[in-house]
Amino acid sequence: MASALTDKLTRLVKEMRGQARITESNVQDMLREVRMALLEADVALPVVRDFIARVKDKALGQEVMGSLKPGQALVGIVHRELVATMGEGVADINLNAQPPAVILMAGLQGAGKTTTTAKLAKHLIEKRKKKVLTVSGDVYRPAAIEQLKTVTAQAGAEWFPSTPDQKPLDIALAALDYAKKHYFDVLLVDTAGRLAIDELLMQEIKDLHAAIKPVETLFVVDAMQGQDAINTAKAFKEALPLTGIILTKLDGDSRGGAALSVRQITGAPIKFAGVSEKLDGLEVFDAERHAGRILG
Ligand code: GDP
Repeated sequence: MASALTDKLTRLVKEMRGQARITESNVQDMLREVRMALLEADVALPVVRDFIARVKDKALGQEVMGSLKPGQALVGIVHRELVATMGEGVADINLNAQPPAVILMAGLQGAGKTTTTAKLAKHLIEKRKKKVLTVSGDVYRPAAIEQLKTVTAQAGAEWFPSTPDQKPLDIALAALDYAKKHYFDVLLVDTAGRLAIDELLMQEIKDLHAAIKPVETLFVVDAMQGQDAINTAKAFKEALPLTGIILTKLDGDSRGGAALSVRQITGAPIKFAGVSEKLDGLEVFDAERHAGRILG
């Protein structure tokens, strides 16, 4: 695999040529380069530390020491560990529930929740042949309710009306009741998000979760959020039993280190990636490809 990291490590090994063999301290030098690469990709520092410790164990025990191309061997280990951490295999949306399967969308304002709700509606209609209803519990921003209405129509799903004078819990329960009576397969519940973690809002979404018992609680996170993603992820993990992550804005120029941070902090699988503002810009998350992107 050719990457900027491989080049750096290969150069490092060349510089060490005078030395008789690869030693633990040389591996240490290489790991420093790996650490830099991960930090440059915006993986959060505590996550980088854990990751490097795991890679070091593997590197010291394995082929790197005796390898003719230790730089490449180490990058191979790093790549495999990235893929293993971010999760191999495809994890589609779980609809294993008495219909309607309820899906709760959580995340900060601007993360892409509303757009992603419509993208998921489209995905579930087209790929899984489901009848989908959406509803917005964002009573703080009337524009957000309207936005969901618009994108739901574009997705070909049905939208359940709500107004800012209602309580999010009442809205969700009314939508659930409507979905049951009209034989919807899926109810997607979009929620309010603030620009920063907010106790009241966290309590609100916890209450919502307890009442509507979603089969999926998806954490929507902006790949461009970088180092800060770890704090957001911690707060949402503490508040909710997250079942999946959707990483948005991967079409941006971030190296996407947030994927590693958020996955490690929440333990939830990264199910999808948002790759455009358009409603067909939702892809199944590909850990293998993403590992290459993080390594640069
Ligand atoms: P919310 O506040 O979490 O509901 O976020 P929105 O759905 O309103 O999205 C915020 C902004 O991000 C909007 O301008 C969206 O068009 C944009 N957005 C959402 N997902 C993506 C994505 O995957 N790629 C790009 N480029 N933009 C996105």
